[in-house]
Amino acid sequence: MFRVPVVVVADEANKYSISVLLGYLIDYLKRERIYDKFRFVLTKWDRATQVITSLGGPHILLVSLLTTQVIQNLRRIVETTEISRRLGGITVAGGPHPSGDPYGTVLKLGFDLAFIGEAEQSLTEFIDKLISVSDHPSVNGVVAIDEVGVEARFDHPRVKDLDQVPPFCEELGLLNPIEIMRGCPHACRYCQVSFMFGAVPRFRSIENTVVYAKILLRRGIRDIRFISPNGFHYEYKRIKASSSSIIELLEVMNREIRSLGGRVYLGTFPSEVRPEYVTDDLLKSIRSLVDNRRINIGAQTGSDRLLKLLHRGHSAEDVLNAISIARKYGFEVDIDYIFGLPGESDEDVTETLNHIERVIKLGGRIHCHVFMPIPGTPFSFAPPGKVPDSARKFISKAIGRGVLWGQWLKQEELASKIALFRDSHIILINYSRAIKVISEERPLLRERFNYFMRNLRNVIIKLQTT
Ligand code: SF4
Repeated sequence: MFRVPVVVVADEANKYSISVLLGYLIDYLKRERIYDKFRFVLTKWDRATQVITSLGGPHILLVSLLTTQVIQNLRRIVETTEISRRLGGITVAGGPHPSGDPYGTVLKLGFDLAFIGEAEQSLTEFIDKLISVSDHPSVNGVVAIDEVGVEARFDHPRVKDLDQVPPFCEELGLLNPIEIMRGCPHACRYCQVSFMFGAVPRFRSIENTVVYAKILLRRGIRDIRFISPNGFHYEYKRIKASSSSIIELLEVMNREIRSLGGRVYLGTFPSEVRPEYVTDDLLKSIRSLVDNRRINIGAQTGSDRLLKLLHRGHSAEDVLNAISIARKYGFEVDIDYIFGLPGESDEDVTETLNHIERVIKLGGRIHCHVFMPIPGTPFSFAPPGKVPDSARKFISKAIGRGVLWGQWLKQEELASKIALFRDSHIILINYSRAIKVISEERPLLRERFNYFMRNLRNVIIKLQTT
């Protein structure tokens, strides 16, 4: 029996998001007894064209993309979508970059469909329609190639409860930390999380978390970590934010997971915390329930003026309080800062450097970043970040003292490339910029649309006749 190949490109940088998506999709296909119609083939960007060429027929190319991956692999991505299209593939992209720049993903990267936001439900609906309808399977939450350029259908569905979504894809061996919270109410202006996943957080229940932690343990993964935009914001009972739900989660993990030899990590990557959530009561209660002795806290800047501008919703003093509390209960702390933020003045830089000095005196270690204008954030059109000259000497000395680390040099380069791609209309972001590309490239887009319709028909025929 012919099974339609689904070629999934899963690199290190995007493996978490693709495994959650595949976990959901494969569970659905199995439930509906249609899993046998597909054959999932995992690959990486450097082998994607080889894999597609070896298939040489109808297939679906499924990709999750970060903006940093796009600027590092542009040629390879465009080449892959082109080869896939010519060999009968429907090309589908999702994840942070297509969510922030769906028009550019279709018009400039060559994908037929860009899924916006969390795509579990929209992608499943799309696949389902391939099997059950005979014409174009339109779904909400997608920008697609169309005879007039693009068709955009926003208003994508969101899962109501994380218990509906497996945290990883066991079937394909893609195991990763357990997502316990999705969405963030804070909407910091440089960050995509609230804009991609919404401001209303959804949580995974304790019972469901334990089920998946036990699967990880059975598969030999002893270190149980969580994915959360704010590790200490866990209120699955829908009650007012309080520490009791986190403590309950960790107490159950202690009983059910640590007793079996597992180790539990919260408040450290990938579940870093906001400073105002670090409280005496919470840290006193959890110190014996977690195995990490280090907590990561987001400060971003030492300037209250800039914190307000960023919509951070806490003060510079909150960060110092959080460090004192964490140290009191025996935790080491890593504090994140971002230089080159839009609106950062010389005074802000001076305040940040003074703040960093105070953090170091309190025993904190500095994790230094540079601002990147990520599509899909309110700062999409801001200039790229750069470490200000006045901070460079300070940073070098702090590295020498062993109290500062980070990838800011690489991020400076990435930030300026993102701005370059944006300014040269490879990253489009909004429809008014997309229109210009559509009118300039109409014949090419028409040709691409014809390929898409042909390939779509062939995939539908294969799925409906097997
Ligand atoms: S930076 Fe953190 S707190 Fe702010 S919106 Fe992003 S995830 Fe939420």
